[in-house]
Amino acid sequence: MANNYYGRSPKKKKSGFRLFLFLILLLALAGVTLFSFSQYLALRSLRSDLDRLEEQLKNIEDENRMLWDQYDQVVEENEKLREENFMLRSSTVINHGNRNTNLVAITIDDGAGPELIGRTLRILKDNQVTATFFPMGSWVELHPEVWKEAVEDGHELGNHTYSHAFLTTVSDERVKEELNRWQEAVDSALGYQYQTYFFRPPGMDGFTSPQGSTAKRYKEIIANKGMFAVLWDVELVYALRNEAYTTARIIEHILANAKGGSIVLLHFTENDIAALPDIISGLRRRGLEPCSLSELLLAEMQT
Ligand SMILES: [Zn+2]
Repeated sequence: MANNYYGRSPKKKKSGFRLFLFLILLLALAGVTLFSFSQYLALRSLRSDLDRLEEQLKNIEDENRMLWDQYDQVVEENEKLREENFMLRSSTVINHGNRNTNLVAITIDDGAGPELIGRTLRILKDNQVTATFFPMGSWVELHPEVWKEAVEDGHELGNHTYSHAFLTTVSDERVKEELNRWQEAVDSALGYQYQTYFFRPPGMDGFTSPQGSTAKRYKEIIANKGMFAVLWDVELVYALRNEAYTTARIIEHILANAKGGSIVLLHFTENDIAALPDIISGLRRRGLEPCSLSELLLAEMQT
């Protein structure tokens, strides 16, 4: 009986179990609440991350739109520059360089056999002069090796057509053909694609006086090929037309007329090349320095 009296009553056992259950439930509830709260916090941080990303995306889209606008502007400006460049090339005829330099460009036209070209190259090399040659493509095709040697020596070549065609009298197609065949002859002689910026019209054709639309059209073709038309301010053929064409007279005429910035026109003829050493030394005695067209025109930009 004492056992019954002092031992736990069944009622008491029941209420202890309930308390236990209640506590378990309470714990579970607290767990669930805590879990939900942490989920809520994680969701909130995800939401704010998402907002930030959306904001960034919007900024990137704005920048992107700005860049596209800038790109369009650049394309437009580029197009305008290309147009101006083309207009400049097609309307520019170079007769001389900057008069404030002491440079005089030596340009030699047409062509000759390998002996005379070789002699010219030796004179220029001995005197440390680089010059600009305007051979016809047909001459280059005939003796490719001497023109290759010329370029290897540091001289430059300009387009003077394939067959010395007078370009105002022929069709656009023929103009292009004349220019392209020159290019092909030079490329094949040199073994690589040669870039020239200089074109010299055979017989000055189309450049002495505007000869209507044909001259204008052919100037545009030249400009489209990235070339400038280059004439001269000192020449012999016209100036000495009524005189005996002697080496002495050639030297005298050139030294009397060349000044800083001049472009001298010679031809690959016996007389002109025989005069070359005295032309070079005579120019130097006058404080002038013979050079190629590129050297003269680059000096123009620097001063
Ligand atoms: Zn010529």
